Amino acid sequence: MSAVLDDRSAPALQEFTRAWLADHLPAGWMEAVDAGDSAMVASLRGAMSYDDWCIALGEAGLATPTWPAEYGAGLSLAPGEAKAVNDVLARYQVPRPYNIIGIGMGGPTLLAWGTEEMKHQLLKPLACNQEIWCQLFSEPGAGSDVAGLATRAVRDGDEWVVNGQKVWTTVAHISRWGMLLCRTDPDVPKHGGLSYFVVDMHQPGVEVRPLVQITGDAEFNEVFFNDARVRHDWMLGREGDGWKVAITTLMNERVSLSGAGSIGGDAVGGSSFDRLLARTTDTSNPIVRQQLAQAYIESRLIRINNERAASKRKSGGEAGPEGSITKLMQAEFNQRLQNLAIDLEGMNGIAWEGSALSKTERVGRSPKVEEDALVAFGFLRAQANTIEGGTSDVMRNILGERVLGLPKEPDSSRELPWIDVPRSA
Ligand SMILES: Cc1cc2nc3c(=O)[nH]c(=O)nc-3n(C[C@H](O)[C@H](O)[C@H](O)COP(=O)(O)OP(=O)(O)OC[C@H]3O[C@@H](n4cnc5c(N)ncnc54)[C@H](O)[C@@H]3O)c2cc1C
Repeated sequence: MSAVLDDRSAPALQEFTRAWLADHLPAGWMEAVDAGDSAMVASLRGAMSYDDWCIALGEAGLATPTWPAEYGAGLSLAPGEAKAVNDVLARYQVPRPYNIIGIGMGGPTLLAWGTEEMKHQLLKPLACNQEIWCQLFSEPGAGSDVAGLATRAVRDGDEWVVNGQKVWTTVAHISRWGMLLCRTDPDVPKHGGLSYFVVDMHQPGVEVRPLVQITGDAEFNEVFFNDARVRHDWMLGREGDGWKVAITTLMNERVSLSGAGSIGGDAVGGSSFDRLLARTTDTSNPIVRQQLAQAYIESRLIRINNERAASKRKSGGEAGPEGSITKLMQAEFNQRLQNLAIDLEGMNGIAWEGSALSKTERVGRSPKVEEDALVAFGFLRAQANTIEGGTSDVMRNILGERVLGLPKEPDSSRELPWIDVPRSA
């Protein structure tokens, strides 16, 4: 079990985190950060074992401070309290687990819907980055309308047999477990015939084929299920209640992608505002000054909205549709920020070393990367921000319906049995 803290005031939590870091980070790390010596931090980071570091951070409860300590990786803090911990981790540029989908979505879904057995078995290795998780929702024929998905699961004794195809599955190629949404009853309207499982990705019936993106990375995949098997007691929620469980995952996904999670406010892939400012040598141009000021204002607005959402969660309840506000803002802001970064590069912004772009080489380990490559990478990667985790059009629909209370978008297939809904082959 991780530590149970008596004093949860912000100063006490900051002190606890700082003291733990002083004991566990390589000697000289915190001093180098305080002195602004980024070359020294990069060199110390290059020499440390990322895997061992993630285990230590996870076991101390610092990777997932809001999770209950009883499962071995959490500090049982409220989201507002966890901010004090996360601020110190960010301040000292502490390497975080790469298991973003697991920590941001899998863990919260498991905590809300899982059995005690599942929580005890799965949460700690997830938080310690030892078991990566992926989200198996989207299919070739079901993205925005994910409730229309076609992957079938059929009961066979104590197990279910799964057949079908998923796509755009981030980190499936390195995943141990998957959050799988399947159709278990095709004869009822689409939302009612779904069930949600935790599936073992290391079994013969699961085939993962990487897809290469514009950045040159293959961070997402096609996943084929051919008579794959999943335990009945690893269904989250009841049979036919998969949509409710999926909503828990999706709400938490929006919070993660809005920058409120461990990723950090202005750094969803590529240049952050601070990095952009540091690289801009000529600030005499009034248009550049105006663009930088605008970017600063937007990044602060997102942070304030994230804090507002966090304080709502602190007063009880799960992530709600307000996550769609900052998901939408963050996605569109990050595209503007990366566009600005590449514009300010001048000639550098139209020619770069292709081989230097690969994120897979640097993610999580954060070695000293070529700054030019990071700017180009950020520009290319940001194109996906308004698609991943739900498109901006869909976010606007959610905000209209669930925040502003506007009438629901017409959907002629909503009440039909799923089997009777026309779909492409
Ligand atoms: C980098 C990346 C990572 C991803 N990772 C994962 C993952 O790990 N797991 C996973 O399950 N999925 C993942 N996805 C898939 C993602 O959730 C879908 O791409 C997204 O939901 C859109 O679905 P689609 O691509 O099928 O587009 P479609 O749903 O076919 O949409 C096409 C266009 O129609 C618009 N549109 C569709 N419906 C409406 C509507 N009702 N109102 C207004 N406009 C509409 C959309 O905005 C879009 O412009 C990822 C995607 C990307 C880009």
